[in-house]
Amino acid sequence: MYVYDLDRIVAARDSLVEALPDGFDVYYALKANPHPDVARALREGSGHGCRAEISSTGELSAALAAGFTGAECLYTGPGKTDAELDEAVRRGVRMFSVESLSDAEHVGLAASRHGAVADCLLRINAPAAGAATGLRMMGKASQFGIDSETLPELMPRLTAVPGTRLVGAHFFTVSNAADEAALIGEFESAIALASRLESELGLPLEFLDIGGGFAAPYAAPGARATYSRLRSELERSLDRDLPRWRTGSPRLAVESGRHLVAESGHLVVRVVNIKVGRGRTFVILDAGINALGGLSGIGRLLPAAVSLDGCEQSLVATLAGPLCTPGDTLGQNVNLPELQVGDIIAIPNTGAYGITASLVTFLGREAPCEVVLRGREVVSASRLEYQRSYSVMTPDSL
Ligand SMILES: *Cc1c(COP(=O)(O)O)cnc(C)c1O
Repeated sequence: MYVYDLDRIVAARDSLVEALPDGFDVYYALKANPHPDVARALREGSGHGCRAEISSTGELSAALAAGFTGAECLYTGPGKTDAELDEAVRRGVRMFSVESLSDAEHVGLAASRHGAVADCLLRINAPAAGAATGLRMMGKASQFGIDSETLPELMPRLTAVPGTRLVGAHFFTVSNAADEAALIGEFESAIALASRLESELGLPLEFLDIGGGFAAPYAAPGARATYSRLRSELERSLDRDLPRWRTGSPRLAVESGRHLVAESGHLVVRVVNIKVGRGRTFVILDAGINALGGLSGIGRLLPAAVSLDGCEQSLVATLAGPLCTPGDTLGQNVNLPELQVGDIIAIPNTGAYGITASLVTFLGREAPCEVVLRGREVVSASRLEYQRSYSVMTPDSL
């Protein structure tokens, strides 16, 4: 069972808004946790409410279910299909981050089919600014973004794609950057490059999304990172490179997933068996990579390395899930209190990249239920359903 506390989500959002200069929009990356109550809590808030960053029809539905309008969504991603784009435009999305000229053309065609014009941000892949931590995605060959050095040649065509209006730039270079100086460095280089693209290449810069990378712990104790110098450093580089920013030119935005929601969540699991094998103790739980860190089970993200807080250590064991694969471990050499079958363990900081990033259908267990609290009040309790049945496709529906 996952438990999320909306009060903590709102507190994380408000403190991120405080850490930024006035006037920044915060886009919530729904991929971190698309639960409608979570997304709704982030949207609501006097003047501080988030917008939504989405990347699929499913995330669009989740955003709309949470009360976002299509106009409040930014649609991103390297593989937008024509069908997804059609659906997005039909449901009112008008802002897209485009990752290549052909991506922009697909967006334009979808918009034109609906008699609309889509605002496009160029996602830029710029040379490395030197972030020391986190998962860097740009600066080298990548499916993300347009190489900045190709823009002089491409710009005339990018500004003339029918059905689109080029309105600015989108950077997203780094994830989970706990080091404030490194994060500021990334943002400064994004701001400086956007300013040059405007002045030297004529990129219309009404809107600038400088990306994100705000950190949070994952399945281990600790507090989300704080960024005490961010506001003043950003103001300084904006004053230097984009001096009209204070009057809304360009409008500015950041994106965040984990930093907003990680701390709100606990994954509550039950001990189903305890055994010793070749001298090691294994505590076997009723949930593993089907509920948490599934992508790490297949080597795609930081390995799940659960650790627990506040327990008088008396046992060191492997925390294993119930799945029939040796990849289903949530932590090795984890310090634990004395445990018995039936005991309950709460894994902290699991509000982001939980069920949504896990191998939910693998080995056919039910998804964990999700309980949403506001302080001590229960707001909702639900379970994500996936059907263990197959809808038959006909040649027409394929
Ligand atoms: C994944 C992603 C995010 C959110 O990343 P976090 O590390 O959870 O903040 C934001 N923007 C884009 C474009 C992403 O792909």
